[in-house]
Amino acid sequence: MRILIVMCLLAPLLALAQPDVSIRTSHEALARQMLADVIAMDTSVIRKETPKMAAYLARHLREAGFGGDSILTIDLGEDGTSLVVRYSGKNPQLQSIGFMAHMDVVPAFRKDWELDPFVLTEEGDYFIGRGTADNKAGVVSLVVTFMKLKKAGYVPERDLVLVLTSDEETGMVSIKHIANNMADELNMEYAVNADALSGVLAPDGSVFGYYVQGAEKGYRSYRLTVTNPGGHSSAPRPDNAIYQLAHALIKIQNFRFPTMINEISEGMLRSVASRSDPATAGAINQLLENPRSLAAADKVVSNPLISTTIRTTCVATMLEAGHAENALPQSASAVVNCRIMPAMSPGDVEHLLKTVINDDEIQIQTMAEDNIGPASPMREDVMSAIAEALAEYPGVELIPFMASYGTDGKEFRIVGIPVYGSSGMFMDPREAFAHGLNEKIPVEAFYKSLKYWERLMKILARNP
Ligand SMILES: [Zn+2]
Repeated sequence: MRILIVMCLLAPLLALAQPDVSIRTSHEALARQMLADVIAMDTSVIRKETPKMAAYLARHLREAGFGGDSILTIDLGEDGTSLVVRYSGKNPQLQSIGFMAHMDVVPAFRKDWELDPFVLTEEGDYFIGRGTADNKAGVVSLVVTFMKLKKAGYVPERDLVLVLTSDEETGMVSIKHIANNMADELNMEYAVNADALSGVLAPDGSVFGYYVQGAEKGYRSYRLTVTNPGGHSSAPRPDNAIYQLAHALIKIQNFRFPTMINEISEGMLRSVASRSDPATAGAINQLLENPRSLAAADKVVSNPLISTTIRTTCVATMLEAGHAENALPQSASAVVNCRIMPAMSPGDVEHLLKTVINDDEIQIQTMAEDNIGPASPMREDVMSAIAEALAEYPGVELIPFMASYGTDGKEFRIVGIPVYGSSGMFMDPREAFAHGLNEKIPVEAFYKSLKYWERLMKILARNP
């Protein structure tokens, strides 16, 4: 408690202090400058400045020694401009290793933010600006590490390939284009995706663990519609579109999709068990022994950290019904959004929803269609390389992680390239505000991540 009070008193003073950048290495100073330069480019759908950002990064890479033929600029018009950069290695027989990040950001408006979102501000211990956490620090870290290694004359054992996409936050057209048209040419054994919040600090600043994202749940929305002849509201009838739809939604609310445990959810569950009270740990172990045990699943689901990792979830997100206050509704519709386990197909989900609703008068229509990627095998060589590269955090627990949201990684997984979400930054995830207001990252975490990427590239490149 006393420490907290002292920290509160000191905080305003620290915030006013000018950051001392003079102690930074020239590499760190360059990374900071490049981060500032790209934060200033509005790569959201509002101004669509990924072509400008791609040109800026390509120029820096060329100046560092990457020849014109090693930098491919992919112009996809409205969907932005992506970059693919090949760092040629000694042995062309070996498959390449990919490093991914995305240049686009979600929109941010000056009137909503305390500071200009498109100006990198260093305040206190943080870099603040749209894209700091998601994902421009990742882009800059990868690019500046490529540049440093190239300038130092380093030649990797095998090719390293940088993939920087332009519309991860919207249509993911760019990663689909690259996955579907260039997978053979890229010849990747696997890829590491910097679009991740991997290093997790507890609220007290201690290291909680490091998430390696190896799978993503699929995303699909369904529209449920009921139509009815309607009539005058002074004469209610037993059939009513709103009540009929409401019944269907309540059935979905009460339905539990079957529990599915994969290698990654098992890793997450084991990690939670090791930190939990004996009752929770017991329930988790019971679930791992018998994934069909609903009683065990119910106990585990009460833990929000893992509630979404053991099964597909569907939830009502939008509702529309009726046409007049004094009329019986002629139609009612709702949107149900599902996050689907990698082992399930959207067809399975639709079939289960139909079975659960059990009402032929309710139409179920697929809305947003998206593919579902497989989980990546948690490779021992990749995990140990990550652990070695995290030299500042010796003994940190690597926790396999399945995201309940989507990233570019899924599209590579679909074409057979395993992807591991990993960033070198550690922070309290509640502080990042990715997609939100006043997005930020800890300054020191950014500089430490530069060391992480340099080590990781060298370790992975030397692996046979
Ligand atoms: Zn992202």
